[in-house]
Amino acid sequence: MVHLFDIPLVGRLLRSPWTLRLCRLLLLALLLGMILLGWNHHDIAGVPAADPLMYTHGTSHLFWVCWMMGGAILAVVAGRFWCAICPLGWVNELSGRIGLRRRLPSALASKIPVALVLMGLQLLVYGFAIHRYPDYTAWLLGTSLCLAIVLGLLFFGRSFCHLLCPAGALFGLYAPLSLLGLRVRDKSRCRSCTQRSCVATQRFWGRFHLGQAQLFWPMRRPGCPAYFSIWWS
Ligand code: SF4
Repeated sequence: MVHLFDIPLVGRLLRSPWTLRLCRLLLLALLLGMILLGWNHHDIAGVPAADPLMYTHGTSHLFWVCWMMGGAILAVVAGRFWCAICPLGWVNELSGRIGLRRRLPSALASKIPVALVLMGLQLLVYGFAIHRYPDYTAWLLGTSLCLAIVLGLLFFGRSFCHLLCPAGALFGLYAPLSLLGLRVRDKSRCRSCTQRSCVATQRFWGRFHLGQAQLFWPMRRPGCPAYFSIWWS
């Protein structure tokens, strides 16, 4: 088993929050690019084929081939890693920090909404062939982005992921079999830990001194003694 945190440059990159932030920003830019590129592009005037842009347009090709297939391959290799860099989950989480922060109603706290979304998507693909047209794909992506923002403004946490994203549920099935994993290296520390500060606490304001100035910064996991590791087996 190889512990990736122990590899000098790789470990440093993986520990840095800026690696994830940069990935998320790039993917958000790609998502917005796909929406803008596909908007109003349905077919090619004068070309009699029903769906001439299915594989030749950036939006439909990038999303249905690269994004979806890439996500499936990544799930096998790295389990739920995609969720750490997914722009929809990120936007949902960010808007959740400034919104009403309501709890999800208990009636929605089940897998039924996500199962219905999965069925709805199947219907859109097989019934309306949205994967063949860039404008339909852009509409799907734009609607998802708006929903991620609106749900985030209403509810606490990643409500969009919980309610509307079938990918997260499917990634969870692959996670136990994936080659890459983020685990606590020394489980005995967790067994003897009484604070459970990693999961039992909200963000807290850390205080730093800089000369005469005092700086406050939101932090998590105060004093968690566990030794996290990303391993490759
Ligand atoms: S559950 Fe879906 S929307 Fe949420 S982070 Fe994962 S892939 Fe993205």
